[in-house]
Amino acid sequence: MTTKILVIEDNEQNRYLVTYLLEANGYKVATAKDGYEGIDLANSLLPGLILLDIQLPGMDGYLVARELRQNPALDDVPIVAITSYAMVGDRERVLATGCNGYIEKPINPDTFLAEVESHLPADTTTTGDSS
Ligand code: MN
Repeated sequence: MTTKILVIEDNEQNRYLVTYLLEANGYKVATAKDGYEGIDLANSLLPGLILLDIQLPGMDGYLVARELRQNPALDDVPIVAITSYAMVGDRERVLATGCNGYIEKPINPDTFLAEVESHLPADTTTTGDSS
């Protein structure tokens, strides 16, 4: 089964890059440009993982994460925040909203996939463990 990843990101360049990196490694990707669309898609698609930009227009990623965590059907779905904030306390705040971890912008194409897959159950990753 192909793992589906939902990307909630308003920045077109980042959306494109993240989608490219995931699809190139065999994941199915759905994208949303804001939190409202993202919540709708998360509830209907029940993806295997959600990548959530924190800086979103209208409804920021903290609010989106809280809303996603209201749906028991998403309890087991990892939410990984994507944040450009490098402020002290940001990580704690991200985790307090129900995110499982975070990836810092700018996205590093060399490490991005490993960071994402560290939040997926081993049997749902496409690269697996070669050791
Ligand atoms: Mn953004």
